[in-house]
Amino acid sequence: MRCAETRSLLSPFLDGELGRSESEAVRAHLVDCARCRAEASDLRSISKFFAEDEPTPPTSPGFTDAVMSRLRSGEGLEERRAERVARITVLAAAAVVLLSVGFLATPRSMWKASQPTLEAGLRGEVEREIRRNDLQALPIDGTAFRKPASQPARPR
Ligand SMILES: [Zn+2]
Repeated sequence: MRCAETRSLLSPFLDGELGRSESEAVRAHLVDCARCRAEASDLRSISKFFAEDEPTPPTSPGFTDAVMSRLRSGEGLEERRAERVARITVLAAAAVVLLSVGFLATPRSMWKASQPTLEAGLRGEVEREIRRNDLQALPIDGTAFRKPASQPARPR
């Protein structure tokens, strides 16, 4: 038996699917031929690997479709963004609560006295932030939100 014929029969030989005479012929060739022996050894380890491989557990019907449509719609991204916004909101609310508690716990006279200091502190904070971010200095007293005084239309 030649190498080509032997190799074409290796897989059924290893699976025990050959008749006695064919099986004997392949065995005889493998005794003499190191290259076909190596091939047979490779094949055996591959089929062993697949035999030991655990079967993939079945997924519920429609699972793949559901995953793919969620990927396409970007639903997960939206959820993560919403989660981030919610976290920031909670932090902001907590800050407001802490500030309120601080004011309530402070005697009225001290609260009044501390008000300008607090405002100056906040103003300084905002101005520092603006400088740090190299933002254009905006008026922080609310004038930016007022409507500009209407100007008379220029005659042409
Ligand atoms: Zn051979």
